[in-house]
Amino acid sequence: KLVRNVYPNLTPYTCQLADLPIEDLKKVLNKDKVYKLSFNESPLGPSSKVIEAMQKSLLELNLYPDSTGEELKEEISRMEGIDKSQLLLSNGADDLIVLLAQTFLELEDEVIIPQITFVQYLASTHLMGAKPVFAPMKPDLSIDLKAILERITEKTKLIFLCNPNNPTGTIIPDSEIEAFLQEVPSNVLVIIDEAYHEYADSEEYSSSVKYVDKGFPVFVVRTFSKIYSLAAVRIGYGIGDARVVDAIHHVRPPFNVNAVAQAGALAALRDQEHVEQAIALNQKGKTQLYELFTEVGWKYINTNGNFIFVDMGRDSQEIFDSLAERGIIVRTLTGYGLEHSLRVSIGDEEGIHAFIQAIKEII
Ligand code: PMP
Repeated sequence: KLVRNVYPNLTPYTCQLADLPIEDLKKVLNKDKVYKLSFNESPLGPSSKVIEAMQKSLLELNLYPDSTGEELKEEISRMEGIDKSQLLLSNGADDLIVLLAQTFLELEDEVIIPQITFVQYLASTHLMGAKPVFAPMKPDLSIDLKAILERITEKTKLIFLCNPNNPTGTIIPDSEIEAFLQEVPSNVLVIIDEAYHEYADSEEYSSSVKYVDKGFPVFVVRTFSKIYSLAAVRIGYGIGDARVVDAIHHVRPPFNVNAVAQAGALAALRDQEHVEQAIALNQKGKTQLYELFTEVGWKYINTNGNFIFVDMGRDSQEIFDSLAERGIIVRTLTGYGLEHSLRVSIGDEEGIHAFIQAIKEII
């Protein structure tokens, strides 16, 4: 009801408090200050070099962007040690997830999706009239590759893996991935979403980009929305076999990645010092939140992202509501059947402090 006052015409993207823009949250919650810890946004923001590069690109707003983003692709391919033909840019990772579905799925195809993972894999599967096949998680809520293998049929076209996984923060150990890929039929494309790649600090994690050159049917998805702080301008990329990349090029709109985003992403890649700063900030916030959860006796999963999955052992909606009353918005996970858990983004120092204070008041 609160949301409906601000949004009389609800869309699927504005039907929950956790999905509202900050300015609307202020109105709905009647607060001057709101901490939105539900979108896994980077609290740091881009560096001044990135902003400068984007400002410069504004002088050419009359021109179409480079359709394939050659300059940015050159930088990414150098960093990742791949060929440019194995790389394509997208209007955020979300766009790429849709494009993959549009390129490779037909009615009645099957798509294997872990039970607790990023929701857009399911949306894209439905978009194409394909059939989602859910694979249960391991007891520790990490992705269960064995359960996925068991669900492969002749109709399977795509498998979505999120590594590190949103919303659990778990990783798939590198040693498990290669063995898994060896078992996957070559006509099935395994999409590995590494949106949180740069945050992962588990020794067992490493990127799956290396499997592309080994000839496995793997397609890696990345984004500039998280560690690079460019969520607003929408830019991501994918790495896979050149034939897969080529097939997606035939489906995507010709100018799906805008010039401002391309300029910002290029400058952001060239400013790895800023990335280190973002990682350090996340690490610090992570430690503070772990300490809080330990103190209040809530179980959390060690995260490899910029968010923490926490099991409070009590009704999550109640905690959500109490936090919202204090101007803090987190994400409930009841859609996954998890009634006692929340996902909280690791915000800036002020946001973390507000969250810690609020939790101490609530419990
Ligand atoms: N994949 C995962 C796992 C995500 O969590 C997100 C963002 N929440 C995305 C993809 C989408 O990122 P983008 O902003 O690049 O569309």
